[in-house]
Amino acid sequence: MNKFVVLVVEDDPPIRNLITTTLQAHDYHYLTAATGKAAILEATSHNPNVIFLDLGLPDMDGVELIKKIRTWSNLPIIVISARSEDTDKIEALDAGADDYLTKPFSVEELLARLRVTQRRLASMQNELTSQCVFVNGNLRIDYAAGCAYLGDTELHLTPIEYKLLCILSKNVGKVLTHTFITEKIWGSSWDNDIASLRVFMATLRKKLESQPDSPQYIQTHIGVGYRMIKV
Ligand code: CA
Repeated sequence: MNKFVVLVVEDDPPIRNLITTTLQAHDYHYLTAATGKAAILEATSHNPNVIFLDLGLPDMDGVELIKKIRTWSNLPIIVISARSEDTDKIEALDAGADDYLTKPFSVEELLARLRVTQRRLASMQNELTSQCVFVNGNLRIDYAAGCAYLGDTELHLTPIEYKLLCILSKNVGKVLTHTFITEKIWGSSWDNDIASLRVFMATLRKKLESQPDSPQYIQTHIGVGYRMIKV
């Protein structure tokens, strides 16, 4: 079963049934709401992945509903409406809708729009994961947890060593000057900060590199700074 849940907000029973039957036939889960109030209740209590929204609802204009939902959620909203004027589309998109489908619509197009939304959500998820976890060869840094690993072994780093490793990893491939790094760590770049940096770099390398004398991950640029190599 597809775990994707679609909230169908539509007050016209034949259209609502057409949409839910189509979703069911393609293994999507769905929820339904026939009013704006019911839509808000369903959206807040069941956390759907996407909303199909009719603009002409009995108790509330769909554009108002989009604005309300946007105050607390970024979930994708695909408008399905009989209003075909450009101004209506623009108004809905400006209010925060993600896509707009005009009635009458083909179920194939509806499914295609849904797949586009799914792909977009998946790539956003990947981006989020890649921002939280950095991987370079055997080195893995879980920024959210504040832990670094070499293979399966956790590196026992001091707070300064960890900070240093994060600064280098977040700029992988770039040469970072001593000043840039010390500013990031201590907020200053006095000579003694640069001397301290050398000491912390040496202790970090002992933990990170299998051969600290010919480092694999962190390259020294004499007189300039350091660079993490993409291995
Ligand atoms: Ca309607």
